[in-house]
Order: sequence, then C-alpha cells, then structure tokens
Amino acid sequence: MSNCLFCKIINKEIPAKIIFENDFIIVFQDIHPKAPVHLLMVPKQHIALVNELNTVNIHFISEIFLQVKNIAKEQGIDQTGYRLVVNSGPDSGQEVQHLHWHLLGGKKLAGIG
Ligand code: AMP
Ligand code: ZN
Repeated sequence: MSNCLFCKIINKEIPAKIIFENDFIIVFQDIHPKAPVHLLMVPKQHIALVNELNTVNIHFISEIFLQVKNIAKEQGIDQTGYRLVVNSGPDSGQEVQHLHWHLLGGKKLAGIG
C-alpha cells in the first residue's frame, strides 16, 4: 500500500535497521525501543489488522512464529525469555495500520493486565 509506513520500509523507500528478511517477513528495530531488544516482525504483504487474516494470507503470519526462536537466539534472549505483542484496532492503540508483532526482551518485563 503506497502510503503505508511499513510497506515503505519493506520496499526500502525509507530506512530501517533491518535484522532479518525473507520472502514473507521483514524484522527491524523499533524506532522507539521499550526494551533492550525491541524488534518489529512484519509480514511483507499489507495486512492491516488481525481481522483481515484468512486462510490465504495466514502463511505470512506463520512465518513470523517460525522465525521467532531464531531471531531470539541471535539477539541473545532465547533463554532469558521474551514477549510477543500485537495491537489490532483502535482500542489497542495500534499506531501503524500494517499488522506486526513486537518482540520485546533483554530485561524483566513488567506484567500486563
Ligand atoms: P503499534 O502501536 O503496535 O502500531 O506499534 C507501532 C510501532 O512502530 C511503535 O512501537 C513505533 O515506535 C514504531 N515505529 C514507528 N515508526 C517507525 C519507523 N520509521 N521505524 C521503526 N519503527 C517505527
Ligand atoms: Zn503496509
């Protein structure tokens, strides 16, 4: 989508600190990190929010979950643990309307709820 921030990062139209990418996903550092490790795991297809997932596009998301352990190991947090967060829709506070998972770790994270 032409006016989408994360599509622009995927298309290399704006820079990001890219950690990993393949045909399905891109992983880059969050510009405002909330933990020592704060990465964004983003499907390369423009999917705005969880409500848009279906049997055709779900493999982009499967790839995120398949790669998490590898990325976590590279980041040195596979043994200490990490948190995956997805915001979807207005009440979640989702800022970027291109579905993504936050990968947070490298410190004891505060509890949620
Ligand atoms: P969310 O609120 O779940 O939509 O999260 C959006 C995230 O994108 C926030 O944590 C922002 O800090 C991050 N962000 C915004 N712009 C950029 C950018 N240009 N590069 C990397 N991360 C960004
Ligand atoms: Zn997009």
